[in-house]
Amino acid sequence: MDVRKAAGVLETGSPSPAQLAEINKLTKSPLTADEVYIFAVRLCDDQPDRDLEKFSATALEQLAPMFVGKTGIADHAWQTDRQLGRIFAAEVVRDEDAVWLKAWVYMLRCDKTADLIREIEGGIKKEVSVGCAMARTTCSVCGADYGVCEHRKGVTYDGKLCVAVLEEPTDAYEFSFVAVPAQRAAGVVKAASDAQSAEVLRDAAFGRAYRERLQKDVVRLGLVLDTGLSETLLRAMVRSLDAPQMEAVRSALAEKAAQLFPPATQLPRDTDETDATDSAFLI
Ligand SMILES: [Zn+2]
Repeated sequence: MDVRKAAGVLETGSPSPAQLAEINKLTKSPLTADEVYIFAVRLCDDQPDRDLEKFSATALEQLAPMFVGKTGIADHAWQTDRQLGRIFAAEVVRDEDAVWLKAWVYMLRCDKTADLIREIEGGIKKEVSVGCAMARTTCSVCGADYGVCEHRKGVTYDGKLCVAVLEEPTDAYEFSFVAVPAQRAAGVVKAASDAQSAEVLRDAAFGRAYRERLQKDVVRLGLVLDTGLSETLLRAMVRSLDAPQMEAVRSALAEKAAQLFPPATQLPRDTDETDATDSAFLI
């Protein structure tokens, strides 16, 4: 039914049913879409970083499944209360500029995570660093094990910059939000940069429009029913409700209105955008 669906995707970053199914493979008891916030991160790529190292594309492919189930923390500290999110899906993305590892992270929506979610949404927390164990590094110029040949990182040989190529991952560790990541491009993936997130954004826009409609309906009903509550108070009350609560209030008030004002009385149509209650939602 539309109503529950709209409530489930009200906030940017709610999981799709398929994503929720992946998340619930990792949880002890099943979570609902409402309880979960998700975001995508760019963990690492095949571009030289500030240490003049890069991951090979093969290594990224091998790392992807290793990261699933790994935790994310706010800084490199291992106290349990700093473990804020968990990777539930990871895939290698190949675009024009780079091959990179994209991970989807879920967090529980709770008091502990509220600030971080706000910071992610606001673009304040956007960089991550990633931990993993690599068995081998090779020379990007000749392919030998790094350190065995004569090539050195940062030196250009016949127009080719030597970097150490990270190969053969043996383990993936946590990822962490940091001020300055070692991998230049690592960070929270811009929400609008891929189709999956665009879908989330569309759903969120739909959710916002739906929520505004609900708010208007409840304020109108409160006024129509002559509850004695001022428009200002009604607006304030409505703003504090989530969508399911607003639906409950709307349906209770609508039922009351139907009893008091039998069929002939219709609520003001929503197309009447100039009525007084609209001013509530111009903030
Ligand atoms: Zn070499």
